[in-house]
Amino acid sequence: MAYKGGCHCGSIAFDVDGEIDQVIECNCSLCSKRGYLLWFVPRASLHLSTPDSAIATYTFNQHRIRHRFCPSCGVAPFGMGTDGKGNEMAVMNVRCFEGVDPASLKIVPYDGRGA
Ligand SMILES: [Zn+2]
Repeated sequence: MAYKGGCHCGSIAFDVDGEIDQVIECNCSLCSKRGYLLWFVPRASLHLSTPDSAIATYTFNQHRIRHRFCPSCGVAPFGMGTDGKGNEMAVMNVRCFEGVDPASLKIVPYDGRGA
């Protein structure tokens, strides 16, 4: 199925294909502050309605993941990076999806702080 989502002010809008099987709740310094609930999909499954140049980027630590956010409202709907095999991935924050209740999802803790 396709999920619709975006930032708070509407500057970033997208839809993304797939089925949410589970989401990752990571306790690293960034994820815990932003409250991400993460779902990994191939980059090709993410269809942006927003020009890439309109989305700000933050990186930290090893700079492997480009954490994208709205320069206007600050909401961070996804990140981009590559998996271990070099495939382009999108890391979606399901809190930014329309009609998805996080309480209905299987939430898997990930120890990003200790790892
Ligand atoms: Zn915004």
